Amino acid sequence: MRIAFYDAHKYEKKIFDEMNEKFRHDITYFDFQLNENTCMTAKDFDVVCVFVNDTLNDTVIKQLKEFNIKMIALRCSGFNNIDLDSASKNGITVVRVPSYSPHAIAEHTIGLMLSLLRKLPQAYVRTRGANFSLEGLIGRELFEKTIGIIGTGQIGKVTAEILKGFGCNIMLYDIYQDHKWADKNGFFYYPLQEVLQSSDIITLHCPLTDQTKHLINFGSVNLLKKNCIIINTSRGALIETTALIKALKLKKIAGAALDVYEEENTFFFTDWSDEILNDDTLARLLTFPNVIITSHQAFLTEEALKAIATTTLKNISDFDKKETLSNIVLTA
Ligand code: NAD
Repeated sequence: MRIAFYDAHKYEKKIFDEMNEKFRHDITYFDFQLNENTCMTAKDFDVVCVFVNDTLNDTVIKQLKEFNIKMIALRCSGFNNIDLDSASKNGITVVRVPSYSPHAIAEHTIGLMLSLLRKLPQAYVRTRGANFSLEGLIGRELFEKTIGIIGTGQIGKVTAEILKGFGCNIMLYDIYQDHKWADKNGFFYYPLQEVLQSSDIITLHCPLTDQTKHLINFGSVNLLKKNCIIINTSRGALIETTALIKALKLKKIAGAALDVYEEENTFFFTDWSDEILNDDTLARLLTFPNVIITSHQAFLTEEALKAIATTTLKNISDFDKKETLSNIVLTA
């Protein structure tokens, strides 16, 4: 099939090309995102292949329909950036990669926790400049800390299981509770408020929905312990960033590590080092010594990229051959 591949980066082109030797699709890579300004480029393709920061609103989807695009192939698991009602009305099938490597995201989550608790970014910068002083680098241990896991799907579960190995106390919150898995691991589910009030570390692993938007907000930050750190490797808008900044400024919490940011579309995956950063909220976040930001990097492992490429290309082949689709978000 003819695939228009948006927001393409060198690291994924190489792997998609390797995997495509088996599937033999005709892929055109665009380094820009799909949105209202760029959707004209989807003409003469069968499929658009998109990632987390492409915008598929009603206007874009109507345009895709006019171009006779048959499928939107997400090469990620989340689908909060697609107007599914519009895709349904316009008869466009949507597929995704529901699972590629929960370990990739869970391990990055742990990396962020340890980096923040042990001040590893500061230590790295210091020793590179031949400053071997330990002043100001006292850290905190994960052992026996209480960790609140919000969302116990694939990634939340792996994260909880890894943290069990560190000797942490795990508190779970999810609207759908997997008691069989929790019992097996000696974990328990609690009401959200109790998890927020009791945790030394809160880590977010639920999808972005109307219900979860700004789950961490001006009200909920007031419930957190003073030594609490927040980790978000899920979706930026789970946190009301202005509330987080206020809590950090007032020292109501001890820090945050974010792999995602509410307004990341414009910035993440792009080199802005030569530009003026015209987002004051992001700029403010970058000034805190107790904030670590990575730019939506948690998925970025060799293992995960190979799995993403294989599943995406197979989704498209199955659709082409009219075989049963297993990773459907929406069937036309
Ligand atoms: P999943 O679907 O397996 O699990 C999500 C869990 O969240 C489910 O158990 C669900 O019941 C729960 N949930 C839904 N609504 C909730 C609510 N209102 N409150 C509490 N829990 C709720 O998804 P997953 O594979 O574990 O992925 C989790 C999220 O991680 C994705 O939605 C995506 O946003 C994010 N993600 C980020 C990256 C990255 O690179 N940073 C990569 C992949 C996924």
